[in-house]
Amino acid sequence: PLSPLPDSVRSVFEGVVARNPHEPEFQQAVHEVLHSITPVLEAHPQFVAGGILERIVEPERQIMFRVPWVDDGGKLQVNRGYRIQFSSVLGPYKGGLRFHPSVNLSIIKFLGFEQIFKNALTGQGIGGGKGGSDFDPHGRSDGEIMRFCQSFMNELYRHLGEHTDVPAGDIGVGAREIGYLFGQYRKITNRHESGMFTGKGVQWGGAEVRTEATGYGAVFFAQEMLAVHGERLDGKRVAVSGSGNVAIYAIAKARQLGATPVTASDSSGYIVDDAGIDLDLLRHLKEENRLRISEYVTHRPQARFVEGARPWEVPVDIAIPSATQNELDEHDARALIDGGVRAVAEGANMPSTPAAVAALQAAGVLFGPGKAANAGGVATSALEMSQNAARQRWGFEDSEGKLHAIMRDVHRASFQAAERYGAPGDYVVGANSAGFERVAHAMLA
Ligand code: GLU
Repeated sequence: PLSPLPDSVRSVFEGVVARNPHEPEFQQAVHEVLHSITPVLEAHPQFVAGGILERIVEPERQIMFRVPWVDDGGKLQVNRGYRIQFSSVLGPYKGGLRFHPSVNLSIIKFLGFEQIFKNALTGQGIGGGKGGSDFDPHGRSDGEIMRFCQSFMNELYRHLGEHTDVPAGDIGVGAREIGYLFGQYRKITNRHESGMFTGKGVQWGGAEVRTEATGYGAVFFAQEMLAVHGERLDGKRVAVSGSGNVAIYAIAKARQLGATPVTASDSSGYIVDDAGIDLDLLRHLKEENRLRISEYVTHRPQARFVEGARPWEVPVDIAIPSATQNELDEHDARALIDGGVRAVAEGANMPSTPAAVAALQAAGVLFGPGKAANAGGVATSALEMSQNAARQRWGFEDSEGKLHAIMRDVHRASFQAAERYGAPGDYVVGANSAGFERVAHAMLA
């Protein structure tokens, strides 16, 4: 259940619900933004007069398509593909592709909607979009993944381009899939258009630090939130959920900065290792061999595997949810609060339910929403686009320095907007207001 909205935005939300009745995640994402931007609307009557809200909740273009492919047994399979081109007012549509059986229109629209404001918050010239498929890569051979990706691109290529729409990875789409997708685009179009996809391999146009960027960025954001209160990351215990790209590099950066990340998870359960997660082992299991997380404890007997549960019951100082949407509910929030949590930085998109966010904020926990805390991934994608356009390649340290500076700016912009709009310390209000303001001014112009 979503809380009642102020009068000024209620009718817009009712319109969204009426037009998109079976899209709970999309409704949730719109509700969160509308809920926090009423002070921005009061300060800018021109946004209301200009119909910004009515326009912004409707994607500029929605693409849905058939993806037929042949599996290793010779059987024809059909999946559904999506690309939601939500807003191009600040730049080409930009946002990842997600391949996961849970993908549907609601999920892709919520992700595309979030992406508009996140991308705006980075200060770069990128619009918002998202895509994906209900394809389940789990247990599929390399050949099946390749044929699926080729078929997916056979339709999507006509909607993409470095000045039009630039995808990247998300859940289920990593370096391997991007290679197959980019390769097919190159063959169909006869163009090596490096800026039409980000997250590419560093040997063929990819940017240093793109793989690490989302996880590193979430840790930098947590560090900034703590610094406002004169607190530091080193010595802190950290709970991370997930074991994909975001989780692995959040764990890596937290360790590097002197914290102790003690958990990781997948859909089967979580592991807790009080001595600190063994990163090489985690990467070996999940990145290289795509095994279940429970394998971890066979190599590290001092660690524990907890089946069918989420890591939020482990007492920690910092939590970085980095798995998927709505993975941290009110009950989990209470467990974190009881365990003494000081800060939550969202590595995933919308991992905390509205009731969880409310509980954390009411308890005085520093809460960094995904739009701000995980913006490092897409921000580094924009750096990749810059390098591609200039036919340049920057080094690792240089790129990490740029990412760090962007995360400081994202934090500052969110923090200052929250103060400006009468909600000091509320990064949800801050991130939504700062992102929305930039998009709304551009739309009016
Ligand atoms: N999927 C990532 C996100 O949620 C990255 C998108 C990108 O790099 O375009 O922001």
